[in-house]
Amino acid sequence: MGQEITASGESEALDTTFEAGCIFCSIARGSIPATVVRQTERTLTFRDIAPQAPAHLLVIPKTHAYANAAELAAGNPGLAAELLREAGVVATAEGLAEDGYRMVFNTGDYAGQTVFHVHLHVLGGDPLGRFGVPADAAAGE
Ligand code: AMP
Repeated sequence: MGQEITASGESEALDTTFEAGCIFCSIARGSIPATVVRQTERTLTFRDIAPQAPAHLLVIPKTHAYANAAELAAGNPGLAAELLREAGVVATAEGLAEDGYRMVFNTGDYAGQTVFHVHLHVLGGDPLGRFGVPADAAAGE
């Protein structure tokens, strides 16, 4: 267990919660390959395997402790902030910042969440399509 110093200066034990069968836990541990572009002690950023835009990255905490953004923000706001910060850093590094990009946390079935280990999508590289279109309407377009 490492020690993390939070923004407030308090030390916090590094959360190493892991779930067998979770694809993102396996990527975080290096037992499943991924195109990792950046990592910190608590976060990992890698390319989405099925990109929805020219640049599509996922920023995850290494811990499995939080299924979605709301749980993460309630349980560990410092780590939530670190995910957002990492998304901004990687968006700049990928050259997305000037033209703009999108950050997305899908939460639950209606949003299409498929992996229940919180992850922040970073999408950009071209103008993005409409956002929040109901699935039925999108199918008819
Ligand atoms: P969500 O639908 O919000 O739960 O997003 C899960 C994302 O994980 C999807 O965009 C998938 O394409 C992506 N994904 C699933 N498996 C992998 C993998 N092995 N490597 C990289 N991305 C993955």
